[in-house]
Amino acid sequence: MKKHNFNAGPSILPQVAIENTAKAVLDLNGIGMSILEISHRSKDFQAVIDEATALFKELLNIPEGYQVLFLGGGASLQFCMVPFNLMSKKAAYLETGVWAKKAIKEAKLFGEVNVVASSADKNFTYIPKGYTVPADADYFHITTNNTIYGTEIRTDLDCNVPLIADMSSDILSRPVNVSKYAMIYGGAQKNLGPAGVTFVIVREDILGKVERAIPTMLDYRTHIKEGSMFNTPPCLPIFTVKETLKWIKSIGGVAAIEKMNIEKANILYNAIDNSKMFVGTAEKDSRSLMNICFVMKEQYKDREDAFMEFAKSRGMVGIKGHRSVGGFRASTYNALPKESVEALVACMHDFEKENA
Ligand SMILES: *Cc1c(COP(=O)(O)O)cnc(C)c1O
Repeated sequence: MKKHNFNAGPSILPQVAIENTAKAVLDLNGIGMSILEISHRSKDFQAVIDEATALFKELLNIPEGYQVLFLGGGASLQFCMVPFNLMSKKAAYLETGVWAKKAIKEAKLFGEVNVVASSADKNFTYIPKGYTVPADADYFHITTNNTIYGTEIRTDLDCNVPLIADMSSDILSRPVNVSKYAMIYGGAQKNLGPAGVTFVIVREDILGKVERAIPTMLDYRTHIKEGSMFNTPPCLPIFTVKETLKWIKSIGGVAAIEKMNIEKANILYNAIDNSKMFVGTAEKDSRSLMNICFVMKEQYKDREDAFMEFAKSRGMVGIKGHRSVGGFRASTYNALPKESVEALVACMHDFEKENA
């Protein structure tokens, strides 16, 4: 049976990206060797990383003055690299979930952290508004999409200090005005590629301002200078990222992707809002287009396991909610086809008919 892959990460990728990766694993562009067994210094791999970088810049319309890096260590390593490289004394953070909290924890090792607002009071079901970012903060850090709670900041904020965004789970899901950010980073494994590579888009002029010594590997300037090849980069994941970027371009770029994402999310949110059994967990004006979280209403709580089994029998994969929210989470990343969302909605309707 065809699976409907709602995994939160690692997660669904475009079929063509997977197929082209499989081909390159057997023989890269007919060179008689696998992508797995060539030097990262070879011209064949250089062409891969160059194309990935160029596509990234093109699709997100990245202005002059920014660098695109492909690193290891996941978004989690960025939680410490960001303050290591950029915090002299004080930084501001928006606390919108577990990932934001992890970033805050690391930043506290380097200086004063000002948490300007938090939605912890309501289990991170909303994006705080109406806060002030102190003008003397070295930067302001946000998590644009809160993968676990299904909330998202879908506009590019105006900010009085350099804005830094963890976009692990919504990168390339919509057009972004990159010039409003000093840095954007994330793990690839939600919306961009397989696990193992981390993208960083950084405006060069924010670097080199802190006085502390930075270990070579943790210094962004090292990776800029060496074109992401100070050490051996994650070659295969970078190849798949390149293929995913090609796919995004082929279907019309991020504006087209955003339209599709809005359509998919509307189908599922409408089903949830019109349901007798299910209810969404995130506040409506904070809802994510990427991770859609819902639970059974109180009187049906005991039916959650039964629905999970029912959905599984219909080919749904990865819809169990994160343990800190419970219920269900459908991740509707770029590569998820509309048909999968429709299949999930049909599943909810059929279950409701028999159980509500
Ligand atoms: C998954 C996720 C992370 C963690 O990414 P790793 O690459 O596993 O370190 C960080 N932030 C967000 C928003 C995520 O969704």
